[in-house]
Amino acid sequence: MSLDLDRFPRVKLGTWPTPLEDAPRLSEALGGPTVLLKRDDVNGLGAGGNKLRKLEFLLGAALADGADTVVTFGALQTNHGRQTAAACARLGLRCELVLTAKVPRSGEAYERSGNVALDRLFGARVHVCANADETAATYQRLLDEAAADGRTVTTLPVGGSNGLGTLGYVAAAIELVGQLTERGIESARIVVPQGSGATVAGLALGTALLGWPGRVEAASVSHPADEAREELGRLASDAAALLGVGSPTPNDSPALNVRVQDGTIGPGYGVPTEAVWAALRLFASTEGVVLDPVYTGKAAAALVEWAGRGEFARGEHVVFVHTGGLPGLYGYAPELVAASS
Ligand SMILES: *Cc1c(COP(=O)(O)O)cnc(C)c1O
Repeated sequence: MSLDLDRFPRVKLGTWPTPLEDAPRLSEALGGPTVLLKRDDVNGLGAGGNKLRKLEFLLGAALADGADTVVTFGALQTNHGRQTAAACARLGLRCELVLTAKVPRSGEAYERSGNVALDRLFGARVHVCANADETAATYQRLLDEAAADGRTVTTLPVGGSNGLGTLGYVAAAIELVGQLTERGIESARIVVPQGSGATVAGLALGTALLGWPGRVEAASVSHPADEAREELGRLASDAAALLGVGSPTPNDSPALNVRVQDGTIGPGYGVPTEAVWAALRLFASTEGVVLDPVYTGKAAAALVEWAGRGEFARGEHVVFVHTGGLPGLYGYAPELVAASS
């Protein structure tokens, strides 16, 4: 077993380790578990978030390959795009964001505020596409332009989720298990949102390779649980192959101790429910912590649901991974105001 991440090219983008904070008033409100907040939302660059850990490996490889241009994809309010834009600014790379209008939201706040405004501030070129065909055509045009200019392009997948990006959360697993061990906490349930999958895959793979006894509890925010489980299994296998270790899968092996649930997706990706707004109010009013309505809000709604179902023993440690997303909240400002009054 090898957890040697040093042999991969990596650029430092965030401030590590991120804090692991007590949340006594939230724990009290949930009436069972002892909740700790892993603050991957306050890690420095570009307003922060979970994509920075992946980008350290993805852009490390891009620089090693001599890339000068980065192209990536996402929804209009993608946090991944915004963090990629900030990282490219710091590294002096040209950033092209190909954004697809796939969330049923429109209006001034969603289309022009939040992450979209920050993308432009960081100097990214933003290409808004109406559908998948336009997205594919735009991508091809950007590749042709770069070829004509003699530029070298690195293309990053949606959410930065591939085997290499997953290593960022293998590193996070090592960091988190170290922090828990330092506090004398031997096991915990790690609650985390799952979108494109590398965050959960990396945490599951990293904790498995460490032989840590806890469990990752994923709340899918975009795909049915079976699809999300398959995706994270594929990412964990790809990352394991890069590390040169055997590839554990979530289904036929106890090696990846992860459970994926989808009970708080609601109508779909990027569409908050009343339970999501209630979870935002709970975290804000007990701990002064702001969640986002697309990812962390849905994971927090799941945490509330699971606690209410008696899933956690009294005093059991639960680590809620705050993956960021605050700028995206401003895209939903009118809904936030309506939900808070
Ligand atoms: C992208 C994102 C996630 C999901 O992470 P994946 O690795 O894509 O599953 C969770 N929270 C926030 C705030 C994000 O931006």
